[in-house]
Amino acid sequence: MNILLVNPRIPDTYWSFRHAIKFISKKSSNPPLGLITVAAMLPRNWSKKVADLNCHPLDESLIKWADYVFISAMSIQSDSVSDVIQRCKNLNKKIVAGGALFTGDPESYMHLDHLILNEAELTLPLFLADLRRGNPRKIYRSTAFADLHSTPAPDYSLIKASDYAQLSIQYSRGCPHRCEFCEITALLGRKVRTKSTLQVLNELDNIMLTGFRGNLFFVDDNFIGNRHKLKKDLLPAIADWNKSKGYPFTFTTEASIDLSEDPVLMKGMTEAGFEKVFIGIETPDETALKECDKHLNLKHDLLESVNNIQSAGIEVSAGFIVGFDSDNAGIFQRQIDFIQQSGIITAMVGLLNAPNRTRLYKRLNNEGRILHNSSGDNTDYSMNFIPKMNKEILLEGYRSILTNIYSIKPYHRRLKGFLRKFKPAVQTKMKISRGKIAALLRSVLYIGILNKGRRHYWNLVIWSLFTRPRMLPLAITYSIYGYHFRKVYRI
Ligand code: SF4
Repeated sequence: MNILLVNPRIPDTYWSFRHAIKFISKKSSNPPLGLITVAAMLPRNWSKKVADLNCHPLDESLIKWADYVFISAMSIQSDSVSDVIQRCKNLNKKIVAGGALFTGDPESYMHLDHLILNEAELTLPLFLADLRRGNPRKIYRSTAFADLHSTPAPDYSLIKASDYAQLSIQYSRGCPHRCEFCEITALLGRKVRTKSTLQVLNELDNIMLTGFRGNLFFVDDNFIGNRHKLKKDLLPAIADWNKSKGYPFTFTTEASIDLSEDPVLMKGMTEAGFEKVFIGIETPDETALKECDKHLNLKHDLLESVNNIQSAGIEVSAGFIVGFDSDNAGIFQRQIDFIQQSGIITAMVGLLNAPNRTRLYKRLNNEGRILHNSSGDNTDYSMNFIPKMNKEILLEGYRSILTNIYSIKPYHRRLKGFLRKFKPAVQTKMKISRGKIAALLRSVLYIGILNKGRRHYWNLVIWSLFTRPRMLPLAITYSIYGYHFRKVYRI
């Protein structure tokens, strides 16, 4: 059996970092971890190839080669999914589809041959068994959640590691919190399920074999969902592993704000090599936090919490939302002030949307306010429901947040404030590579010469050189990120 596993194209969004990764000659920010995990669940004697459309266009000869085309996608990829489906149908190829897009909205994809919904550990074996017997069904779903101890290591040999800015790895799924808008808990539940430490170390060994060195993204929904196990077991093991291999990897992940109250956990993370964490801050407004059931954030002084994490030497990037029912016209300036004061450089500010299957979707649907499925794109200025605030005022306020945090002057002011006091706990042992020198030269050309904000670029470079020379690489990296944000938000 020949199996083609297709990762449809992700448009230019905040998360694609497409305008930034060009500087380091990479084709995509992250590999399709779900697809290469599914590949490892297929029979060993089947031939498998991965087509990542974020790296290369889909070659017709690959579709012709395949007996089955497997597609895994999130809602943000839906345009590319339609295109792939059409091309496979034109060539009479059977399609097997799974992942968040299809699990969230199977009704829109009933014309496909097979839908393997929910977690593949539970539903894919049923499909494979039926296929062997010659009578596979159209839909496979499960209300249970998978035990990750049974999850095979992703088959990293199917991707070209050098195409990616970073590689990804997963330790846990699920999050104990219950934010109303969250699709993760709707799909993966609130019980935190983890792999064993041995599984993770084995996956790190496999990634080493690809030749990749650099940053690995733990794509966990909330990495600190089981703090006890992390502190006692996983983090010390990763720290030992990283040291024994000569520090080939640094790590980033996603976590909830309660990380800030646990110095032992933060120390364990930095000793293991974690240099950055993404946190869902959402809003500084208490009423909105109550409205969306993000009670965890109410228990913390959010600015102080961010400061605690940064003081522990971990960079913080964060998500912010406007468009809650309780938001009023004052929220826009409050968000701007919070972000500027916090020193969070990569702040993903989005309009509230209600993905299918979330509690928010159900509530708004009951209120007759849902307009269509959410696009999954946090940079396209769209909302899939009727907000309480006047839509024009909301969009104008949203735009003002983006302009006030990402246009070059306030962005560089925030960046300098951050660089002035930040002391990274993870001292990277990675050498200066040709790629890094090329990125520096490209930043000089595209931001320092051809860009209209060039004066600010040179000001930052000179300021870093004289005041915090060790932070110069980070200053250049964030200049490149700023260039990406201004492009995706069209500022
Ligand atoms: S803390 Fe994050 S992952 Fe957990 S429920 Fe809230 S939004 Fe979802």
